[in-house]
Amino acid sequence: MLLYNSATRRRDEFVPNEAGKVSMYTCGPTVYHYAHIGNLRSYIMEDILEKYLRYSGYDVKRVMNITDVGHLSSDADTGEDKMLKGAKREKKSVMEIAKFYTDAFFADCAKLNIKIPDVVAPATTCIDEFIKVITELINKGFAYEAGGNIYFDTSKLSQYYIFNDFKEEDLEVGVREGVEEDGNKKNKADFVLWFTKSKFDDQELKWDSPWGVGYPGWHIECSCISMKHLGGSLDIHCGGIDNAFPHHTNEIAQSEAYLGHKWCNYWFHVHHLNTNSGKMSKSSGEFLTVSLLESKGYDPLVYRLFCLQSHYRKSLVFSYENLDNAVVAYNKMIARVVSLLKDDAGEVDRAAFDELKARFCAALDNDLNTSLAVTAVYDVLKAKTTPATKLALLEDFDYVLGLDIVPAAKKQLDEEKAAAAAAASDPFIQEIEALIAERAQAKKDKNYARADEIRAILTDKGVTLVDTSQGTKYTIN
Ligand code: AMP
Ligand code: ZN
Repeated sequence: MLLYNSATRRRDEFVPNEAGKVSMYTCGPTVYHYAHIGNLRSYIMEDILEKYLRYSGYDVKRVMNITDVGHLSSDADTGEDKMLKGAKREKKSVMEIAKFYTDAFFADCAKLNIKIPDVVAPATTCIDEFIKVITELINKGFAYEAGGNIYFDTSKLSQYYIFNDFKEEDLEVGVREGVEEDGNKKNKADFVLWFTKSKFDDQELKWDSPWGVGYPGWHIECSCISMKHLGGSLDIHCGGIDNAFPHHTNEIAQSEAYLGHKWCNYWFHVHHLNTNSGKMSKSSGEFLTVSLLESKGYDPLVYRLFCLQSHYRKSLVFSYENLDNAVVAYNKMIARVVSLLKDDAGEVDRAAFDELKARFCAALDNDLNTSLAVTAVYDVLKAKTTPATKLALLEDFDYVLGLDIVPAAKKQLDEEKAAAAAAASDPFIQEIEALIAERAQAKKDKNYARADEIRAILTDKGVTLVDTSQGTKYTIN
C-alpha cells in the first residue's frame, strides 16, 4: 500500500515496524463542544484507513486520546483553556462538560459508522505519565523551568520543523498576530509542557507535580498516551492537517527527545472541510453538526459517502447542494441493490469476484483513494455477473466503506413487502385489484366497453390507472 507521509512529503510504501501488526494513534477531540462535520471528516477518513488496514490482514491497535484538559484557545501557549471556556458558557463544571461532549462525540461516531478505537484515554486519567515524561525531559536537558512553567527547549534539537519547509518567522509560536509573546521562553518556538503559572488562574483542574500545582500542556498528552499504549515505535499517527504544526511538530520533538530515537514512521493528515465562506467554525455562521444534518432530513451515512467521494488530501467544500448530490447517489445505489435482492441470486462467480475486488483494493492501495473505491462499487453494480456475486462484493467492501448499502436495501425491501402485505389484506385494495384483473381479462377478450366501464368505476372510487409495460399500476387519490 502506498500512503502519503507528511514527514517525507511523498507517497511511501507502507511497511509496519512489526510484520502483520500496525500501531496507530489518533488525536482525539477536544470535548468542549459538539464536533463539527469538519472534525468528523478527519475521523471518517482515519476510520477508513484503520478498516482498510484490517481488511488487508493487519492486526491493528489504535489509540485515541480525549482532550479534556490543556487545549488552549490559541495554537500558541497563550489563550484561555478551551474546556474552561465551554464550562463557563454552559455554567457547568469542566468534568461535566467533558462527559457530555465525549458521549456526544461517540454518538456521532456511531451514526457515521466510525469504529471506536481499541483504547480511548482521557488526558485527565494520564497525569502520572505526563509527569514521568516531563521529569525525564528535564533530566536529559530538553526542558527548563521559567516563570513557574516547564518549557521544551527547541534549541536542543538538530531539526525542529518536520512537515514543511516552514520559514521560522511565519510560524513562530507565540508571536502570531494578536497573540502576546511569552517572555519566559528562551526560544520563540519553545512550548509549555506543564503550567503552574497561567494568566488564567481560574483553571479548574489542577494536579500536584514536582514543579508545583498545575496542569499539562496539550502536546505532551498525545506523546505520552501514544507511548504508554503503543510503545516507543509508532507506525502511523493521524490527525487533521491543522495539527501538523505546532501540535504534531511538538509531539515529535518531545517524544524523540524522551526516547532518544525516531518515534513515528508515517504521518497521515486529513485536509480540511470548508464552507463556501471559508473555515468551518463552532462559534460563527451555521454550526454544522451531525444532529443539524439529521434535523434537515439527511441520513448521516450520506455525509459519510460525501466524504468518501473525494480524496483525503484535498480540501473539500461543504454545501447543501453538494450533499444533495450525495443523497441522489446514495439512493440510487440502494435502489440498484433492492432490484438485485429481488432477482434470482444464482451462485457466486469467484473469478468475477476476485477481479472486481482487485479494483477496489487497487484504489485504496493507492494512497487511500476512496473516490475510486466508490467507483469500484458502481463497477460491481454494472458488472455482467450474478446478483450473488454482486451482493457478496458489496458486503465485503462495506467492511471498509461503512455505508450500509446492503442492509439499507434489505430494510427498504422488507418495508415494501410489509406495505404490500398490509395492502393485500385491505378489502378496498382487494376490490381494486379484482377490478384491475377483470379489466385485463376484458381487454384480452377485446371487450373494450367493459374495460372502459371498469376504469370509470375505479375513477369514481378515486383510483387512477396507469397502463405500463409491466401491467397496470394505480394510485389512490
Ligand atoms: P479538535 O477537537 O479541535 O481537537 O479537533 C479534532 C480533529 O478535527 C483534529 O484532528 C483536527 O485536526 C480536525 N479538524 C479540525 N477542523 C477540521 C476541518 N475543518 N476539517 C477536517 N478536520 C478538521
Ligand atoms: Zn494530538
